[in-house]
Amino acid sequence: MNFLEERILKDGIVKEGNVLKVDSFLNHQMDINLFKQMGEEFKRRFADKNINKIMTIEASGIGIACVVASYFDVPVVFAKKSQSINIDGDVYVAEVESFTHKNKNQVIVSKRFLGPEDHVLIIDDFLANGCALQGLISIVAQAGGTVEGIGIAVEKGFQSGGRMIRNLGYQLESLAIVESMDAATGNVKFRDQSEV
Ligand code: 5GP
Repeated sequence: MNFLEERILKDGIVKEGNVLKVDSFLNHQMDINLFKQMGEEFKRRFADKNINKIMTIEASGIGIACVVASYFDVPVVFAKKSQSINIDGDVYVAEVESFTHKNKNQVIVSKRFLGPEDHVLIIDDFLANGCALQGLISIVAQAGGTVEGIGIAVEKGFQSGGRMIRNLGYQLESLAIVESMDAATGNVKFRDQSEV
């Protein structure tokens, strides 16, 4: 079992509706030493990639992305949730349905911060159905950039996003893959990644 899996077993809380609450260490209160371990691990897993930008989505991916970026020594750009219409055509836009809030958001990235020269590592806290990742991948494609890889803290392997993204051919690295979880008992089981 790796450091993140151990922490999820210790401090994660399984909620109804396939939601794993990790707000005591990952996305509300944030354990920066844990994020540093994640940064080191992503650096190891993407060592052969030439990455010049980290990309994530507002809000809960930002903290992790910033710490990860310090290991790659590159800037972070995050997709912002926005109500405003793209009148000037100066932003890339994607529509993302929120798994936790069940609403749709337009997310935008300024054209000034992403272009054909960018080799992007996408980072996020969770992967469920993959809507957030599809939005980010679409924005990189609009910019003419390259997605070099995707790093996720917690993938819920029983939801469809991971399979979909791997089938598209991306190198998707999830530090913990939850195979099953049960709100009644609080039990969480992980996929064996001992070969990684
Ligand atoms: P997806 O777009 O893959 O369906 O969902 C990913 C997004 O939803 C993540 O950015 C994350 O913020 C949120 N999310 C999905 N599942 C969970 C969960 O079980 N717990 C928490 N805390 N957030 C989740």
